[in-house]
Amino acid sequence: MTPLVVGNWKMNLTAGEAIRLAGAIAREAPADTEIVLCPPAVWLVPVASQLAGSAVALGGQDCHQVGQGAHTGDIAARQLADAGCSHVILGHSERRANHGETDAQVAAKVSAAHDAGMVAIVCVGETADQRAGGDALPTVETQLRGSLPAGCDTGNTVVAYEPVWAIGTGAAASLDDIAAMHSHAGSVVSAHSDRLAGCRILYGGSVKPENSREILALDGVNGALVGGASLVAEDFLAIARAV
Ligand code: PEP
Repeated sequence: MTPLVVGNWKMNLTAGEAIRLAGAIAREAPADTEIVLCPPAVWLVPVASQLAGSAVALGGQDCHQVGQGAHTGDIAARQLADAGCSHVILGHSERRANHGETDAQVAAKVSAAHDAGMVAIVCVGETADQRAGGDALPTVETQLRGSLPAGCDTGNTVVAYEPVWAIGTGAAASLDDIAAMHSHAGSVVSAHSDRLAGCRILYGGSVKPENSREILALDGVNGALVGGASLVAEDFLAIARAV
């Protein structure tokens, strides 16, 4: 299984910064890791130009669940695909928290992404309170069952386990907790659908060059979803090389 490393640039970077970062990553990307960069939507097209001819793919950070229409400020899956995206992040905890996205909405967006021919990177993860209350595994299980619609398979869907309390905090989950959750998530998705048996499961949450090698070496961790460290070419490339 080829490991996958995804850079989520979130709402960061000017056009010039995005173009320079994409160019630097495209020039140095290791050949044996699949890499996807997810810039802000407004920079998708110039970043696509930087990635043209490289092995680095382009992804969106969200899409709407309907194909087109009166949805001011939203982006349709087909528009992302038309801009050159092969992947789209869906159900990120910042979307779930800041925009009230439910599992059902995430599932509808996943289907829209598939209809547009893209791979959906479906994010799940528990809050600090849920973990403290002993509810981490059931929370993620519920999110997975609700966010993965019929039609998901190992080719069109990737899961990203991102404990909410580890995102952007500098404190990644422990290796034992990551391994336990990835093992559980693998069982849940296989039971949910035969076609998801062996689905890639990424870890996300304060992945940095210093901790990437040991996280990515864990059984059941098939790559990483990287936020902050994806904004610095050398850091992101070090993570991609650590796979
Ligand atoms: C993320 O937002 O998906 C993420 C993993 O962020 P960070 O790497 O900054 O924790």
